[in-house]
Amino acid sequence: MTTRTPLMAGNWKMNLDWKQGLALVEELGEQLKEVDTSLVETVVLPPFVDLRTVQVAVDAGKLPIAYGAQDLSAHESGAYTGEVSGSMLKALGCTYVAVGHSERRQYHGEDEQVTGAKVKAAFAAGLIPILCVGEPLEERQAGRHVEHTLAQLEGGIDGLNAEQAKQIVIAYEPVWAIGTGEVATPEDAQEVCSAIRGALRSLHGDEVADAVRVLYGGSVKSSNVAELMTKQDVDGALVGGASLKAEEFAKIVGYQG
Ligand code: PEP
Repeated sequence: MTTRTPLMAGNWKMNLDWKQGLALVEELGEQLKEVDTSLVETVVLPPFVDLRTVQVAVDAGKLPIAYGAQDLSAHESGAYTGEVSGSMLKALGCTYVAVGHSERRQYHGEDEQVTGAKVKAAFAAGLIPILCVGEPLEERQAGRHVEHTLAQLEGGIDGLNAEQAKQIVIAYEPVWAIGTGEVATPEDAQEVCSAIRGALRSLHGDEVADAVRVLYGGSVKSSNVAELMTKQDVDGALVGGASLKAEEFAKIVGYQG
């Protein structure tokens, strides 16, 4: 019996300007009135430019929604044109920040060194990183999905102390399932999520391994989330496309019915 609170995080990616983001978060607040939000943590990850609006809406409506950014700088401040620091996100009331999403790895060349530095920068700013890991199709076809994912995990959490390791959230997102409509089977998700927890156990012991939330991400919808959530080591979902519709995302949050 797990004591981990399930977490459903919506990654809006580069969608929704601040007005559209405001409409979505307000509508999500309405939809969540039908859901027992004490059972599940609800998180949204809007684009940077929407965060202030989301902060005001969440505070004003006392909405049961935490929020965060999709990325942060590895640096604290200074001459890093175009970047946003962890402390800037913290000042906007962010709780979480995604690190190492496959789209950051693929289009911005973020490797383990960069994700490791960003995870540390998040903790230094008082944010909880959601470290995204997962294999591309070729690695799965070659049977190297666990090995590939664990290498990303170990690079991303390298140098964390036990207190930090206990708080981190890991999102297992097989690249071939992201935005493709092809969801991993619950068994595939469990295999890798369990390997992630096993690696955390070897590195940091039982207390950390039993506390960390391991999410699955990749084409999660209200129609497949409940089955994924039956798996012992799947503690929630990182949701892209389906988080852009308030009713659908609220159904995902309310998967327990
Ligand atoms: C994601 O963006 O992390 C994701 C899992 O996207 P989707 O749910 O659209 O596959």
